[in-house]
Amino acid sequence: MDSLKTKIRDIADFPKPGIVFKDITPLVQDPATLKTCIDALIRPFKDSNITAVAGMEARGFIFGSLAAWELGVGFIPLRKPGKLPYDVQSVDYALEYGNASLEAHIDAVTEGDRILLVDDVLATGGTAKASCELVEKLGGEVVACAFVMELSFLKGREQLTDYSLHSVMTY
Ligand code: AMP
Repeated sequence: MDSLKTKIRDIADFPKPGIVFKDITPLVQDPATLKTCIDALIRPFKDSNITAVAGMEARGFIFGSLAAWELGVGFIPLRKPGKLPYDVQSVDYALEYGNASLEAHIDAVTEGDRILLVDDVLATGGTAKASCELVEKLGGEVVACAFVMELSFLKGREQLTDYSLHSVMTY
């Protein structure tokens, strides 16, 4: 996966001092690399009877939609508050500073759906954990969480011990 890593651009001190932001735009701009990435993202789940992919706003929409397309299933957007037009289920979670919420439409998941959760980065794991809770509140089963990148030094895995995890690239 070293060829993929050459398409991830590190931006120091974005969005705030001390953060090294993993910019995925060079990767998604390059069709061959994007295909390699999506293939690697979904490879373990081709025979897992996934019935839908859920992705977190906003970069999870890019990778999640492509993963859903490749798996031949639908996509469920998990959105920041106030963006979805119909009735929603929501989940609140703690960030380093303050709180955040994610929402999904109440009819986004069919009872018994086998969901693959997709995001670009696993950092501290708070977003992924909240997303799993939201999917479960709606009656879905989280089969696994798949990430393009895992920042292992932030120990997000420790938040997600109840779930199967897959990362294309690890830092
Ligand atoms: P966390 O809840 O800490 O695991 O953060 C995960 C979310 O924040 C993901 O949706 C990422 O898109 C974003 N994120 C966290 N850290 C970074 C980073 N260093 N570069 C890019 N995105 C990040």
